[in-house]
Amino acid sequence: MVNRRDFIKNAAVVGGVAALGVPFTNERMALAKESAGGGVSVAVTASGQHKLPPLPYAYEALEPYIDAKTMELHHDKHHQGYLNGLNAAELALKAAQDSGDFGKIADLERALAFHGSGHANHSLFWNNMKPKSQAKPKPEGALLNWIDRDFGSLEKFKEQFSAAAKTVEGSGWGMLVYQPLLGRLYTVGVLNHQNSLVAGAIPLLVLDVWEHAYYLKYQNKRADYVAAWWNVVDWADVERNFQAARQG
Ligand code: MN
Repeated sequence: MVNRRDFIKNAAVVGGVAALGVPFTNERMALAKESAGGGVSVAVTASGQHKLPPLPYAYEALEPYIDAKTMELHHDKHHQGYLNGLNAAELALKAAQDSGDFGKIADLERALAFHGSGHANHSLFWNNMKPKSQAKPKPEGALLNWIDRDFGSLEKFKEQFSAAAKTVEGSGWGMLVYQPLLGRLYTVGVLNHQNSLVAGAIPLLVLDVWEHAYYLKYQNKRADYVAAWWNVVDWADVERNFQAARQG
């Protein structure tokens, strides 16, 4: 049994990456596999070291569907806030491990779930979108076949996804998820960042419906925001997510 410290050291050498401060966007790439058998993979980011990934386009790139000011605040302030919460939760958990005092474990794990999911969802969300002129407007191939099978058609899927997103009570997300054990695609209206997800589900396409995502431009008209958002969905990214999820 390789202990974690040695494993991470070896993984860093094998993977040729630094063991500290790997940005989230590179974590998937930075999964380092143990060379001598096992096939175990582990992200090499140390506790409390997650960094805000840059937006993959300019703040104004999604105009007029999503305005530049909303993108700036959403990415630089809100997403950063979840990262700060995630890093703080990880460091507090590490301190609990070091001291052996698990008196606050439930609170710490709840904070980890909330902020860690917030970070993961936003990272996926930015990449799900592209300026309309560059976004792939429709899925094809395997993903389209699965959508046809599980929702009836692309149009019916978009109706169901939009309904799920629009009816989230309070803050949350609309999601398209793939559940490998159940072998199906589902839509989910997620509460906060993580509640009401099917266990083991892998998000492929996510839409932030917290008010901070749309209130400056759309005020209370969440349905208008949801309808506009489809213009900047990049189906090429959703197809890549689906392919990666199916390959485990
Ligand atoms: Mn958000």
